[in-house]
Amino acid sequence: MSADLAELHHIADRRLRDATLVYTKGRRELVELLAGLTRPATMPELLELRPRLTQSSMYRNMTDLETVGVVQKVVGADDRTRYELAEDLIGHHHHSICTRCGAVDDFVVPARTEKTLEAALAKALGDSGFQPTGHRLDVVGVCASCS
Ligand SMILES: [Zn+2]
Ligand SMILES: [Zn+2]
Repeated sequence: MSADLAELHHIADRRLRDATLVYTKGRRELVELLAGLTRPATMPELLELRPRLTQSSMYRNMTDLETVGVVQKVVGADDRTRYELAEDLIGHHHHSICTRCGAVDDFVVPARTEKTLEAALAKALGDSGFQPTGHRLDVVGVCASCS
C-alpha cells in the first residue's frame, strides 16, 4: 500500500499537525526526496541531491518527521544513519545490507512467501505468549559491486 506523492504530503501534513508542527517547505522537500528513492539514504547522500539545503535544518526536520512517524531510521552494517519513509507509507519491504561497503537496498518478498514467513515466525515463537504484529528482516551479505 504505497501512497502517491499527493497522498504522502497529505498524510505527512496531518501527522505534523497532530503534533502541532507545521509542514514547512524544508520538510516537504525531505519527504519528496525520500519518496523518489528506492533505498534508505544517509544525510550526506540527501545533501548531495539538494546541495542548497542547510545541513542543520535538514537534521532538525528529519528528527521532527521521525518523531511524528513519517520517516524511520534504518540500521545498516556501519554506523551511518539512513532514513526512509515509514513502512506504513511506502509498504512492507526488507533490506539487503552489504557488510563491505555498507550499501542498504530495499527488496520485496512475494505475498505468498510473506505468509509462509509469518507462519514460520509465529511457530518459532511457540507458546511464549508473544503476539507478533509484524516483522523486520534484513539480509546481510556482499553486494554486486563488492563481490
Ligand atoms: Zn557493497
Ligand atoms: Zn516481510
